[in-house]
Amino acid sequence: MALKSSLAVVFAFFIWASPQGNAQAPAPSTPNPATVAATSNTQTAAPSTAPGAASMDEVLDRMIANEQQLVGTLAAYTPMVETYIQNLKVDNDLGSAPKNDRYFLGKLNLKDGVNERSLLAAPGFASNLKGMLTQFYSVRYLPNGFAQMILIDGKGFNRQTYDFEFVRREFLGEVKCLVFDVNPNPAMKETKFQGRIWVEDKDYNVVRFNGTYLGSSMSNLYFHFDSWREQMGPGLWLPAYVYSEESDKGYFLGRRHLMFKGQTRLWGYNVGRNAAQNEFTSMTVEADKVEDNGDAIEHMSPVLSLRAWERQAEDNILARMQKAGLVAPEGEVEKVLTTVVNNLEVTNNLVIDPETRVRVMLTAPLESFSVGHTIVISRGLLDVLPDEASLAMVLAHELAHISLGHRLDTKYAFSDRMIFDDTQTFNRLHVKRNEKEEHEADEKAMAMLVNSPYKDKLANAGLFLKALADRSNELPNLLNAHMGNPMADGKNVKRMKDLMASAPALETTKVEQIAALPLGGRIRVDEWTNQLELVKTKPVALLSAREKMPFEVTPVFLYLTRQKDGATVASKNNNN
Ligand SMILES: [Zn+2]
Repeated sequence: MALKSSLAVVFAFFIWASPQGNAQAPAPSTPNPATVAATSNTQTAAPSTAPGAASMDEVLDRMIANEQQLVGTLAAYTPMVETYIQNLKVDNDLGSAPKNDRYFLGKLNLKDGVNERSLLAAPGFASNLKGMLTQFYSVRYLPNGFAQMILIDGKGFNRQTYDFEFVRREFLGEVKCLVFDVNPNPAMKETKFQGRIWVEDKDYNVVRFNGTYLGSSMSNLYFHFDSWREQMGPGLWLPAYVYSEESDKGYFLGRRHLMFKGQTRLWGYNVGRNAAQNEFTSMTVEADKVEDNGDAIEHMSPVLSLRAWERQAEDNILARMQKAGLVAPEGEVEKVLTTVVNNLEVTNNLVIDPETRVRVMLTAPLESFSVGHTIVISRGLLDVLPDEASLAMVLAHELAHISLGHRLDTKYAFSDRMIFDDTQTFNRLHVKRNEKEEHEADEKAMAMLVNSPYKDKLANAGLFLKALADRSNELPNLLNAHMGNPMADGKNVKRMKDLMASAPALETTKVEQIAALPLGGRIRVDEWTNQLELVKTKPVALLSAREKMPFEVTPVFLYLTRQKDGATVASKNNNN
C-alpha cells in the first residue's frame, strides 16, 4: 500500500488541471511557416512542382491505390464507433447553446457493405446511425450512412473521376503532408467528394480530408466534415476522428436553419482480436509449474473465499468490457484516479480489501458506477469535471457503495455469463443501483468528503452539479447512463445534490467561472490499443464566455505522429 502514505506528495504534484488549462480554444493547425513559405508559390499541379523525390503522378497514383486498398483493409477490423451530436440554438450571450442531442454507439463492420451494429437497444433509439440521423434531421444525411465520413469515396476514387491540385506542404503534428484540393470531374452525375486532402509524404496515405459531398439540395443534404486518421501500423493509417458542423444550413426551402456540431470517434481497432492467441503462444513451460510458497499451505477461510468469489465476478465483468472495447486497459490515468480514491480512504480510515481500483469506460455519456470494488468512470465525465474536488465527489459516491457493502450479483462469477456478442454488453451486464442504495451512498459520500482534503473546495463540486442541472434538459443523451445510474434527470440532479446548497450561483456569462468543461479535453485514447493518457495542454486564457463551452462538443485537431519502430501507436492529441 505504498500509495496510501503519499497523501502530501500527491497534492504537491497532482495537476488535475486548472480550469483555464483545459478550456479549449480551437488552436489552428498552423502550418510550419518555413515549410509553407518554401512552397507557397507552387499553386499549380504542373509536374514541375512535384513534391519531393516522387513525381506528382507517382504520388497521386500511390495515394489512390492506398485509398482503394483501405476499403478492404478496414473490413478486417471492427472498431467501436461513437457519434455524439449536439443540435444548437441561438443564444444571445453565448452565440449558441445546445438545444438537444443525439447519441450512437456501435461496432463498425465493413465486411458486407457498410454496417454499424448498435450497442443501444433501448426503444426509441434508431438501430443504426443512418436511421438516427434521418430521424434527427428529417433530411437525408449521408447516402451510405456513416462510411462516407471515414472513406473519401468508397468506389470511385480515381484520376478519371477527380481532379487534384497541389496546394502546399504542411505539417499535421510531426507528420509532413502534401496538401491537395480535390474536385470531382464536372461530368460526374453521382454524389462526389469535394474538398481538401492531406497526404503523408512517406507512404502517401491520406491522413486527413476536409470538405463535403456535392449533390446537396433542399431535400438531399450533405454536411461538412473534417475526417482524421492515425497511424496504427507500418503504412497503416486508420480513421480515428470526424468532426462535423453546420452553422447556417437552410433546408425545407430555407424555412428552418440547422445548427449543429457532432463528433465521431473510432477506437479499439486491435482490441479483443488476437489477445488469446498471443497469450497462448507466449506461454512458457514454467507457467505449468505451481510456485513453491515455502512453508504454509494457506486454505481460504469462508470470508476470504466469499471475497475471492465476488472479486471473480468483478474481474469477469471488467475483462469482458475491456475485450468489448468499452473499458480501457489499466495505465497512467487509472493510477491518477486511484490516488484520489486513496486520499478519500486515508482521511476516512477506510480499509478496503480487496483494494479499490478505478477504471475508465471509453464512452462519452456522463456516468460512473461500481463493479464490486472497482469504480468505473466514463471518459465523458472525466472530460467535463472542472477540478479535483469535483472528481473526488464522483469517486466518493462510488467508494461509498463499496464501503457500505453494496453487492455485485455473483452470478457473474460464472464464465458462461460472459459469453455474448459485444453489442449485447449493456443488456447482459447489470450494475445499476436501486434508489435506497443511491441515497445511502450519497449520505456516506457527503460524510467522507467533509473529512477529506477536498472539504474546503466542495463548493466547486456543487457548482458543477448546478451547471449539470442547467444543461440536463437539453442534453438527455449525454446524461443517459448506459451501465450506471444517471447523474441527472430532466432538470433534477440525482447525485450528491446536497452539495449544490453551498455552491455559488451559476453565472454562465462570467468568463472566470468555470463550472464544467467541454467534452474531449482530458483523456487521449490510443485508437489501436485503447490505452489512455492524460492530455497535457498549455493554459489558455479565455477571451469570452463563449469559449467556456460546458458539456459541449468541440472541434479537434489531432497531433499526428509517425509510429516509432516496434511501438504500437505513438500519436498524441495536442488540443483535444
Ligand atoms: Zn450510485
